[in-house]
Amino acid sequence: MGNAAGIGAFDRLVARAVPWVPSPVVRRLGAAYVGGMTLDEALGLVNDLRRHHLATTVDILGESVDGDASATAAADAYIATLEALAVRGLPLNISLKPSGLGSGLGWDVAARHIDRVVARAEELGGFVRVDMEESSMIDATLALYRDLRARGRKNVGIVLQSRLWRTADDVCALAELRPNVRLCKGIYLEPPEIGMQDRDAIRASFSALLRLLLKSGSYVAIATHDEQLIVDALASIDELGVGRDGCEFQTLLGVRADLARRLARNHTVRVYVPFGPDSYAYAQRRLRENPQIAGYVARDTLRAMARFAHLSN
Ligand code: FAD
Repeated sequence: MGNAAGIGAFDRLVARAVPWVPSPVVRRLGAAYVGGMTLDEALGLVNDLRRHHLATTVDILGESVDGDASATAAADAYIATLEALAVRGLPLNISLKPSGLGSGLGWDVAARHIDRVVARAEELGGFVRVDMEESSMIDATLALYRDLRARGRKNVGIVLQSRLWRTADDVCALAELRPNVRLCKGIYLEPPEIGMQDRDAIRASFSALLRLLLKSGSYVAIATHDEQLIVDALASIDELGVGRDGCEFQTLLGVRADLARRLARNHTVRVYVPFGPDSYAYAQRRLRENPQIAGYVARDTLRAMARFAHLSN
C-alpha cells in the first residue's frame, strides 16, 4: 500500500517485493486475513464474532470472471450466502466487487448480476456494499450505484477512498442521495495526478471527508485501523451529535482485533470477513499493509527452511 503508516524502511522494501513472493507463500501468510475456504467456515466465524458483539460483512473472494457463466455463479454464491445468513439469524450484510460479478465482461453484465443480489438481499432484509476498486473503475461503479438507487433500491451502499483527489467532489455530487458510504483510505496505488501520496494528507482528507459526509446526513461506515483517525472520528461524532443510527466502525478480519473489541463497547463495529479459495489478490494487498511484513516473511522462510532441512535429513 502506498500509505504504509507505521512501516519502517526495511518493511517498506519487503512490502514492495510482495508481488514477487510465490503465491503459496502469500496464501499461507495471508490466511489470518481470510475467514476460511468455505461458506460453512465463514458462517462459523461470523457466529463467533457475533458472540463478541461484533457485526460482520461477508465478502466472497474473487476479482475476475472468465465468462457470463462464472459471473452468474458468483451472484448465485452471494445469494446462497445471504440465504444461509438469514436461516441462522446472522447479520445480513455482504460486500462485493464489480470485477467479481463480471465488470470485465461489460458493466451491463456486472449491473445485471449485482441487481439480482441486491434484490434478493432486499427480500431478506439485508444490505449490500459495493466495494471500490481501482480509480479507472470509479465512474462506472458510481453510475451503477446511482442506477440501483434510481430503481428504488435502498439497501445498497458504496465506498469512497480518502486518498483520491476527486473524492470531495464525489461526496458533493452524491449528497442528494444521502448515500450509505464506507469511507476508507483506499488500498489501490494511484499515480500522483489521481491520488495523494503523503500519508498525512490522506489522513487529513479522511477526517475532512468524514465530517462532510456526517454533516450531509449520510450514514458512514468508518473503515480504518489508524488510531489517529479513530480518535478524530470519535471527536467528530461527539461534536456533531451522531448516534448509532448515523455511523459505525469497520475493520478487516485479522487486523487490530483489540481495537474492534474496544470500540464495540460503545459503537457498532463491523468486521469484513472475506472467504473462499481465491484469496491470492486479497492476501497480497493485506500483506503489503502489514507493518511487520519483513518479520512475517522472515519467520515463514525460516520455518520453510527448517521443514526442508528436516526432510533432507
Ligand atoms: P494504515 O495506516 O494502513 O493502518 C493503520 C494500522 O492498522 C497499522 O499501523 C497497523 O497497526 C494496522 N494494520 C493495517 N493493515 C494491516 C495489515 N494488513 N496487517 C496488520 N496490521 C495492519 N480499500 C479500498 O480501496 N476499497 C474498498 O472497498 C475497501 N474496503 C475496506 C473495508 C474495510 C472494512 C476496511 C477496514 C478497509 C477497506 N479498504 C478498502 C482498505 C483501506 O482502504 C485501507 O487500505 C486499509 O484499511 C488500511 O488502512 P488504515 O486506514 O487501516 O491505515
